[in-house]
Amino acid sequence: MPMEVLPRIAEALGLPLSASQVHQFEEYYRRLIAANRRVSLTSVTDYEEVQTRHFGESLAVGAALYRARVLRTGESSAVVDLGAGAGFPGLPLKIAHPSLRLTLLEATAKKASFLNQLVAQLELPDVAVISERAETVAHDPAHRQRYDLVLARAVAPLAVLLELALPFLRVGGHLATPKGSRAPQEIAEAGPALEICGGRILSAQPLPSPALPLILVLVEKVEPTPAAYPRRPGIPAKRPLR
Ligand code: SAH
Repeated sequence: MPMEVLPRIAEALGLPLSASQVHQFEEYYRRLIAANRRVSLTSVTDYEEVQTRHFGESLAVGAALYRARVLRTGESSAVVDLGAGAGFPGLPLKIAHPSLRLTLLEATAKKASFLNQLVAQLELPDVAVISERAETVAHDPAHRQRYDLVLARAVAPLAVLLELALPFLRVGGHLATPKGSRAPQEIAEAGPALEICGGRILSAQPLPSPALPLILVLVEKVEPTPAAYPRRPGIPAKRPLR
């Protein structure tokens, strides 16, 4: 079935998609639904709903980042999607902005394997899939302080996410995470994690989201993160910094 909803959403975001990009999204949908029978990737499977809530919302995050000049058109920024799951929001962003260099970090091996096959099928260059926990990868010199941008959707409360995400960023880099109605409370609870891991809230603004109302929280890395962070796998979520 030709995809009609997403091209309209993209157009409204000021980001017209080419025929081949639309085709990539159609293929993404087909493979997502097929793989979802074996691996639990998403509860959203309706054709229109995937276009709005997964693809469209991911593109809305991207549009906000280009508008805020966190990403710049044509620049090959190094981006890591932390807890990518079935690839959201990183992979739709990569399809729309091919110049990005994208790392998809996903702890669950079966999901990472879906991502690997999908990336090969869509013939997307400069995408790496890592099947590991963020707590481990963040201490690898090849990844620590190497990224311009961390994306994360639906992975952890902000205080926990900061400990996982900020170590990946160079000073001056950004974390972007869409949040629901709990955003103000999560920000209020994130003070110690910001202080300890070297971040500051840059903005928290409504996302022109095609689906549910969302707030995009933008954090800037202002100081290097001390080597002790993130703590061992599972500890950041179990004992959030406070
Ligand atoms: N970002 C996707 C998936 C959200 S579900 C989306 O919005 O649709 C959260 C995902 O993060 C799960 O797939 C889980 O395996 C992964 N995850 C959670 N904690 C992680 C960690 N510490 N390191 C790497 N991946 C993690």
